[in-house]
Amino acid sequence: MKVILFSGGMDSSLLAKTAKDTGQDTRLLFVHYNQNHAEREWMAAQRIAKHLGLPLTRRALLMGGLMVKGRSPVVPGRNALLLSYAVNFAAAHGADTVEIGCCAADARLFPDCRPEFIRAFNTMLSASELPVRVDAPLLLTSKRVIRAGLGRIFGATWSCYYPQRDGRGCAQCEACRERGTA
Ligand SMILES: [Zn+2]
Repeated sequence: MKVILFSGGMDSSLLAKTAKDTGQDTRLLFVHYNQNHAEREWMAAQRIAKHLGLPLTRRALLMGGLMVKGRSPVVPGRNALLLSYAVNFAAAHGADTVEIGCCAADARLFPDCRPEFIRAFNTMLSASELPVRVDAPLLLTSKRVIRAGLGRIFGATWSCYYPQRDGRGCAQCEACRERGTA
């Protein structure tokens, strides 16, 4: 079984859709870590999970801090924390794989979305003698290809870090730019 770290965004939604399309035994894990777009993400996550017919679990993770550099979306150590949590969840549920939706565009801004980080994390898991591996199948995939792969569920995904009061994205942040709505 595989666990997908699932935010309701484009990248993890493509992982979920691919898992569903290929009939893999999959569980989606949504982590609420007090990101300011959490509830908007959760709405998208629920809608997509329901559409795909995949089980979805929501858990809360209390982090020590969030965005430290003004409006920068870089949360210090975010993926190390999220992956550690997901590996723990996966092992407890008998899953041997955790997937994370890191893609080519993320690597520029997020050091913990780069191939060397994923490799190092797996080295750490081996040293921990845990029967779980982390996989990032979209590491070399562009947002354009991800959007095309999503097909009809693209409209249900959520990307913006700064949801507006009218329920729409801000059209200015990095995530909106990559999504193509800015
Ligand atoms: Zn935005």
